[in-house]
Amino acid sequence: MENDFEMRLVEPEIMSEDFEGEVTLRPSSLAEFLGQEQVKDNLSVFMTAAKQRGEVLDHLLLYGPPGLGKTTLARLVAHEMGVNIRITSGPAIEKPGDLAALLTNLADNDILFIDEIHRLSRSVEEILYPALEDFALDIIIGKGPSARSLRINLPPFTLIGATTRAGQMTSPLRDRFGVILKLELYKQEEIAKIVTRSAGILGVNCDDAGAFEIAKRSRGTPRVANRLLKRVRDYAQVLSDGVITDEVAIDALLRMDIDDIGLDNIDRRLMRAIIEHYNGGPVGLETLAAMLGEEAITLEDVCEPYLMQLGYLTRTPRGRCVTPAAYSHLGIALQQDTQTSLFNQE
Ligand code: ADP
Repeated sequence: MENDFEMRLVEPEIMSEDFEGEVTLRPSSLAEFLGQEQVKDNLSVFMTAAKQRGEVLDHLLLYGPPGLGKTTLARLVAHEMGVNIRITSGPAIEKPGDLAALLTNLADNDILFIDEIHRLSRSVEEILYPALEDFALDIIIGKGPSARSLRINLPPFTLIGATTRAGQMTSPLRDRFGVILKLELYKQEEIAKIVTRSAGILGVNCDDAGAFEIAKRSRGTPRVANRLLKRVRDYAQVLSDGVITDEVAIDALLRMDIDDIGLDNIDRRLMRAIIEHYNGGPVGLETLAAMLGEEAITLEDVCEPYLMQLGYLTRTPRGRCVTPAAYSHLGIALQQDTQTSLFNQE
C-alpha cells in the first residue's frame, strides 16, 4: 500500500521527485503566481493596508487541498512584506517548548508558517493563544502551590497557518486568525498557463496543445501539473523528438495509466467499488478504504475533492455515492433500479 501511494503520479501531496528543480518552479513573486485571483486580490489589499499603517500583518489561515500553492503563497507574502519566514508544520512541533523556541527566535514582523496546523497538539495550541493575541508567552515555573506564571513578551509576528482540513481545527484556534482564505482547484486554462511557464523554466519545448493535454489531466493542481510535465518531458525526449505536442502528451500519459481527465487506477477502483459492491452507494468512507486497501484520509483528501469537482461523487449523510456521470465515464450501463435510487439521492 505504501508503495502504491508513493508511485501515484497524480498524487497532490508532495513526493520525493518534486524536490528536483522545485526551487526554480516555485513562483517568486505574486505576479508569477497564476490563478487564484480572488485570494491574490484579498492578500494584496490586506498587505497594502498593513504596510500603510506600519503594522504587523494580521494572522492568516490558508486552506484547501494539497498542492494548490499554500506554502508558495506564504513565501510570497514574506517576500512582498520584506520579512523573514520560518517554516514548520503541526506534527513537527511536538512539545510546548519547541514552539516557545521558535517564537522567541523571531524578529519584529517575521512570519511563522505552520503547515498542517490542524495537527498541532492541544498543549502546543494553548501556548499559541496568548502568543497570537498579546504577543506573549505564559510560562509556568515550578509545581504545586509554589508554581508561578511568568510572562515573556514576544516580537510582533504573523502566523500563517495552512491546512487541508479547516473543519478539524479547534474553534479557539480558527477564531484567532484575522483573515481566512480558501484556495480552490485551478481551472484548466490556468493550469495550462502554469505548465507553459514551468516548461519555459525547465527549457522544454511544449506547444499550447501539449500544455492543454497535460492540464486536462492535472486535477486542477499545480503540483500534479509540474510532475506530469516532467514525466512527459522524459517520454518526449526518449521516444520522440523532444517536443511536447498534444499527441506526445496523450501517448505518454496513457502509458502512465492516467486517463483523459486525470483519473488513475485508485480513482477508478474507488468508483467501481461503489458501483459493483454497493449499487452506486451510499457506502461509508471507512468501508471503502478497507475494501481498497487505502487510507481513509487519502481517499478523502486526495481522490474525493477532484471526483466531487467533476460531479462523479457525492458525499451524503449516509455515505459516498457515485453519480450517473461516473457510470458513463467508466462505460458501465446504469440499471433501471440504480437510476431511480441515484436520482432520488440528489
Ligand atoms: P501546498 O502548500 O498548497 O501543498 P505548494 O505551495 O507547495 O502547495 O505548491 C506546490 C507547487 O506547485 C509549488 O512548488 C509550485 O511550483 C507550484 N505552484 C503552486 N501554485 C502555483 C501557481 N499559482 N502558479 C505557479 N506554480 C504554482
